[in-house]
Amino acid sequence: ETENACAPKMPHFDYTPPPYDGPRAEEIFRKRTEFLSPSLFHFYDRPLNIVDGKMQYLFDEDGRRYLDAFGGIATVCCGHCHPDIVEAIVNQAKRIQHSTVLYLNHAIADFAEALASKMPGDLKVVFFTNSGTEANELALMIARLYTGSHDIISLRNGYHGNAAGTMGATAQSNWKFNVVQTGVHHALNPDPYRGAFGSDGEKYARDIQEIIEFGTTGRVGGFISEAIQGVGGIVELAPGYLPAAYNMVRKAGGLCIADEVQAGVARTGSHFWGFEAHGVIPDIVTMAKGIGNGIPIGAVVTTPEIAQVLTRRSYFNTFGGNPVSTAGGHAVLKVLEKEKLQENAFVVGSYLKERLKMLKEKHDIIGDVRGRGFLLGVELVTDRQAKTPAKAEISHVMNHMKDFFIEVMDIALSKL
Ligand code: PLP
Repeated sequence: ETENACAPKMPHFDYTPPPYDGPRAEEIFRKRTEFLSPSLFHFYDRPLNIVDGKMQYLFDEDGRRYLDAFGGIATVCCGHCHPDIVEAIVNQAKRIQHSTVLYLNHAIADFAEALASKMPGDLKVVFFTNSGTEANELALMIARLYTGSHDIISLRNGYHGNAAGTMGATAQSNWKFNVVQTGVHHALNPDPYRGAFGSDGEKYARDIQEIIEFGTTGRVGGFISEAIQGVGGIVELAPGYLPAAYNMVRKAGGLCIADEVQAGVARTGSHFWGFEAHGVIPDIVTMAKGIGNGIPIGAVVTTPEIAQVLTRRSYFNTFGGNPVSTAGGHAVLKVLEKEKLQENAFVVGSYLKERLKMLKEKHDIIGDVRGRGFLLGVELVTDRQAKTPAKAEISHVMNHMKDFFIEVMDIALSKL
């Protein structure tokens, strides 16, 4: 890689974090084990103590620098502690940190207007939440209220959140607890790599019609789907699937919800929203992660007509639409534009994908390389023919990735 003249040039990076004299990894690990919930502890057996973040890099307690290829958890789309975003947050925090729906506040209204300007069609009414889960919970509730139908269709292998309704819509046993899951139907996943119909999106969509015919009264409340499944392993939906599915759902009276929590906010490079690559316009769009660059904020955007359902009762969210997080979110949109980060995701992401595909030619353990822009995935398999997931190898690979990202990526990037 280091010799490749066609490689996109990386901006010069010169930053040394201030010296760290806080608690070391062992002490934090002990506290974490004793005082923090044990969920996901199995992910890493040697967690890093990350004390600083600057743009695309993380720094550990010894000042070692890592390329943050995960971008937080697909959250940090403008870089860690981007100066413009930090400034917007600090300035707002100095004026007022919390303001409710009872008062007017320009930071909230300005961000809503800016988000609406990024939306196609009549999608312009914004409701702020604190997370992707809350945004999806609200979207499902709106769809049910608006249509009067409780039936929701989501995709197998999709991920939509960790509260009761969204966990019901999520279709991966790994992420499901024993929640009551009424009125949710999981449709065949249009997965070009593992699905029965390859890249023929319309064939997968027939399952939606079957669910409507055999699993409901013939009417549905809504359909929710990511444009590229993130938690499910960066699965791009087969072309033609979403237009066909939206058609069937709308004929059955349902609303179409695009979960853009991971695929939205310019990450896929080719478009600002993931659904745009499929040529559809949803009735409701949900978002989180990237819109705050790591600040807790989510949003639901829908049409003025659909939003009217929220006037039927009193509905509000104490922290959603907090002026500090909306000021940060607004700064994110400005940075994305100013620094042409969507274009960057397209150019660098396409280059990275092309090179990962070349690695696939050399290494049998790589079964598939997929995704768009900076939402890319490499699937590891022990047998390419049978597509057997390389389960045992994954934790080994994850534990070595951090060394890889210091040693290999850092050298490669500094010489580009
Ligand atoms: N939807 C998608 C596509 C996600 O990837 C996630 C989180 O990973 C969520 C919803 C839930 O968002 P949060 O973790 O902010 O509640």
